[in-house]
Amino acid sequence: MTKQLNSSEVKLSAQTWMSSLPQIYKNQPQTEIIRRGLEAKSKLGDDVIILAHHYQCDETYSFSDLSGDSLYLARQAAKTSAKFIIFCGVHFMAESSDILTNDDQITILPEFTAGCEMADMAKTGEVEKCLDYLTDVCGIDSFIPITYINSTASLKALCGRHNGTVCTSSNSHKILKWAADKGKRVLFVPDQHLGRNTANALGIPKHKIKVWDRNSENGDLSREEILDSQIILWNGCCPVHCHFKIEEIRKLRESHPDIKVIVHPECPEEILAESDYSGSTDGIIKTIKDSTSFNHWAIGTESNLVRRLAKNLSQSHGKRIEFINEKTCVCDSMNITRPEHVTWILENLLEGNILNKITVANDIKQDAKIALNRMLDLS
Ligand code: SF4
Repeated sequence: MTKQLNSSEVKLSAQTWMSSLPQIYKNQPQTEIIRRGLEAKSKLGDDVIILAHHYQCDETYSFSDLSGDSLYLARQAAKTSAKFIIFCGVHFMAESSDILTNDDQITILPEFTAGCEMADMAKTGEVEKCLDYLTDVCGIDSFIPITYINSTASLKALCGRHNGTVCTSSNSHKILKWAADKGKRVLFVPDQHLGRNTANALGIPKHKIKVWDRNSENGDLSREEILDSQIILWNGCCPVHCHFKIEEIRKLRESHPDIKVIVHPECPEEILAESDYSGSTDGIIKTIKDSTSFNHWAIGTESNLVRRLAKNLSQSHGKRIEFINEKTCVCDSMNITRPEHVTWILENLLEGNILNKITVANDIKQDAKIALNRMLDLS
């Protein structure tokens, strides 16, 4: 089922001009749609840049000028001078692009309903209430709020306002270490698994890692537990990366004794413990490409990326790639953007129509930019 954006978060963080794909673009032969889109793109020239996240389907990915993980794409958005940034990804990524680009640049999300279930699990008002409570228990400035980049602009702004920052799965280690070096406790939102896996890697003792239950009064934590904490994890998660099972990995190892397993750190800690490596999407690609000792891999992340790597790395690097589970690791939100949407956006731009522009409100933008730039400086 396609995840719809949480409407209150959208109102808080972004002003939007939302349009839906007209019928005329549907049911057209895909090759023709892609041909038309590429033709429009070439006529628009340097005015347009298309950024695509690794999880996009191959057909949409084929339009991209640059592709990568959230950190790489955020950096590219901050660097580009193109007038229009078409972001093939999900809503929070387009928001980050709008925050990091100049006022005269325009970020477009081709399919406006492409949200992120994990981002929707952390509403800014609820996180603010949590931070207020933690401050009440431990004192002013005792907690640094750190949000995973998979979060709304308004939540990033909250972190910016409270001397906090943003992290991605590529730099979470550096960012948590930065907070620890300041001698501060951390409130980590929204992904408990990335937070826990990073805290484990940093050697934070288990009993110092607590979980804030967003559906319970005061997070279901006593004042003593909060006082005893070093990091408090918001209990959000990525539904896609939570589906892998230990038995699936063990079965793969039985059938393929030579296999190495690499998973994304949004997976639960039990899955990381069963794996040989973990890494962001860019980290996964680099680890497999650079490995001279191992040629047979199983990957635990979104299926579009695994399928693309299985094809590309067998040709270029002689690697054999397996899914841990092909069926459960599909992100509906990432798959909702199709070539039809990109062609529709490009053909309209040629006619002077700007569709599905993402505009983060100025007050939110300022504070969110502080948090994002702090992350870029730290990483
Ligand atoms: S894979 Fe998970 S975190 Fe990434 S966009 Fe999909 S739901 Fe959100």
